[in-house]
Amino acid sequence: NKVYLNGNIVDAEEAKISVFDRGFIFGDGLYEVMVQINGSFFYEKEHLERLQYGLQAINIDFNAAFLKKEIPKLLHAAQLTAIDCMLYIQITRGVAPRQHSFPQQCQPTVMMYAIPKVLPVINEINAKVLTRKDFRWSRCDIKMTSLLGNVMLNEEAMQHECYETILHRNGVYTEASHSNVFFVKEDVVYTHKANEHILNGITRIVVIELCNSLGIPLKEEAIAVEEIEHIDEAFLTGTSTQIASIQQIDDKLLYSENEKGPITKKLQEAFLKLK
Ligand code: PMP
Repeated sequence: NKVYLNGNIVDAEEAKISVFDRGFIFGDGLYEVMVQINGSFFYEKEHLERLQYGLQAINIDFNAAFLKKEIPKLLHAAQLTAIDCMLYIQITRGVAPRQHSFPQQCQPTVMMYAIPKVLPVINEINAKVLTRKDFRWSRCDIKMTSLLGNVMLNEEAMQHECYETILHRNGVYTEASHSNVFFVKEDVVYTHKANEHILNGITRIVVIELCNSLGIPLKEEAIAVEEIEHIDEAFLTGTSTQIASIQQIDDKLLYSENEKGPITKKLQEAFLKLK
């Protein structure tokens, strides 16, 4: 397997990063995940723009658009050109003596790898999810590599044989540990607005656009924890999750095993046509 590291493409075993890299020491870095389907990256521009947004937010001097030219080189070396695959990109602030504040001179560490991955046509996962308090920080709009909060919250889901953990903060549902969450109530689709309490998922944006083009009423408004009893449908979105129907939230059963809500189904079918 090949890894892109600071402009070079090397075998994975040869890809070495200093233990003083601030990504390792502080989790001071960002990442992106995108998928290549039928020979092109799904919403590549939007993923690179979100990376640029993060770079600016944490003051790392790097032009994400530069990667557009670098990605094909990696895919070529990895023999994944035109093969369905997942691309991981990570940019950290770089190597410097350990001090909290940003170092003056620091060369960002840029790493990418790709692995073959075929996404199911329609995500047939009918997810059981649990809900937990969102104890992460208040800059969830930054797609940072420090994912300990997300990791701990997702682990709870695994311990309970659930697919995901849906998070609530200040009495409202925000997002999930590695996906965004949507609810349907009386034929209106709801999702938390894109602020500092959620990652503005690319799939989230695509689903909002689909609702608009299909004439499905959508509100970027949060659902309160106590409203959960009145929910008709719920689903998760994410790059590899695509659109996954939610079967059960804690003890509340929305659909039985092989069933899903009509709006979820309609959006899944429309999503499929985009690829
Ligand atoms: N929220 C969180 C916390 C995530 O980690 C992800 C996936 N990385 C998402 C939402 C979904 O984002 P996207 O649709 O861009 O994959």
